Amino acid sequence: MVVLLKKNPDPNQVDNLVAWLRGQNLQVHMSEGTTQTIMGLIGDTTSIDIDLLKALDIVEDVKRIQEPYKNANRKFHPADTVIEVGGVKIGGGNFAIAAGPCSVESEEQICLVAGLVKASGAKLLRGGAFKPRTSPYAFQGMREEGIRLLLEAKEKTGLPIVTEIMDLSHLPLFENVDVIQVGARNMQNFELLKALGHTDKPILLKRGLSSTIQELLMSAEYIMAGGNERVMLCERGIRTFETATRNTLDLSCIPVLKSLTHLPVIIDPSHATGVAKLVPPMAMAAVAAGADGLIIEVHNDPPHAACDGQQSLTPQAFDELVQGIEKLRPYAYRY
Ligand code: PEP
Ligand code: MN
Repeated sequence: MVVLLKKNPDPNQVDNLVAWLRGQNLQVHMSEGTTQTIMGLIGDTTSIDIDLLKALDIVEDVKRIQEPYKNANRKFHPADTVIEVGGVKIGGGNFAIAAGPCSVESEEQICLVAGLVKASGAKLLRGGAFKPRTSPYAFQGMREEGIRLLLEAKEKTGLPIVTEIMDLSHLPLFENVDVIQVGARNMQNFELLKALGHTDKPILLKRGLSSTIQELLMSAEYIMAGGNERVMLCERGIRTFETATRNTLDLSCIPVLKSLTHLPVIIDPSHATGVAKLVPPMAMAAVAAGADGLIIEVHNDPPHAACDGQQSLTPQAFDELVQGIEKLRPYAYRY
C-alpha cells in the first residue's frame, strides 16, 4: 500500500501517522520526492481501512500495490536509486562500465587488464575468483587467492572491484570487495540473498538463466527486505530456443524494468551473446536503450583465457567500444 501525502504536511501529524502504522505491525518506508512525499507500507495491510486513511488531513490518496515486490517497486520509491561505490555513481543518469576478465588468473594478468581497462574508461574492475562452472573438471577459479589479487589490482589502479559470491560461507572473504555479484545460477539462492540483505555492500544481482523479470525483482526484494537497498539488476541473457548465441539478450527488459523499479539496470553483453564480435553491437544497443551500466569481459590474451575467452574482448577492442559508447551516450534514451 502507498500513502501519498499532501504538500507540506504537518510534521506532527506525519509522526503520529507513522507511529500508528508501526503499531499495526507495518514497516513504513518514507520516500521524499521534490513534489510529493510517499509512504510505502510493507506488511499485512488487509486490516487497514483505506477510507479512514484518506480522510486524514495530511493524506492526498491511498493506493494498494498489486505487485508482490514492495521495496524494489517504483510506486514505493519514484526517484531512481543512485548507487555510489568508491566514488563511482550508477543510476539516475549516471553511467558506468565494469570490465575485466571472466576469471582472475594471475597477479600479472589481473593487474595488466585492470590498468588497460581503466585507461580506456572502465570505472570498475570485474574478475571472477569463485567460478560457477558447468563441469566440475573445468577451472574453478583462484578462490581466496583470486580475491587477494583483485584487491591488489584495486590498490594499484584505484578501481573498485566486482566479484561473484557462490556460497554464504565465503562471505567473510568479501569484506573488502566493493560490489558483490550474485551470479545467474544463484539468483534464487534465497538464503544467500537474505544474508546479503544484512550487509552494507552494493549487490550486482544477475538474472537467472530462465527467470522472469518478476522473479528477478522478487530476488532483489529478498535483499532489500533485509535492509540493503543497494541492488543493481543485471540482464545477462536468458535461455531460449535460439542456439546461434550463448543466450538471448532481452534488451526490452530495460524499459520494462525502468517502469517497474527504481533500481539501476546493468547489461552484460558478454554472457548474453557468448561471442566477442557480438559484444560491441549489443553493448551499444543497451546504451541506446538507456542502460545504467555495462559489465564486459576483457582479456589480455582471449585465446588462452582460462574461462570465456571466446566472448572476451581484447583491450584494444574494448577501448574502441568505449569510444563509441562515449559518442552515443548523449543520445541514449532517457526515462
Ligand atoms: C560471470 O560474470 O563470469 C558469470 C559467471 O556470469 P553469469 O552468472 O551471468 O553466468
Ligand atoms: Mn564469464
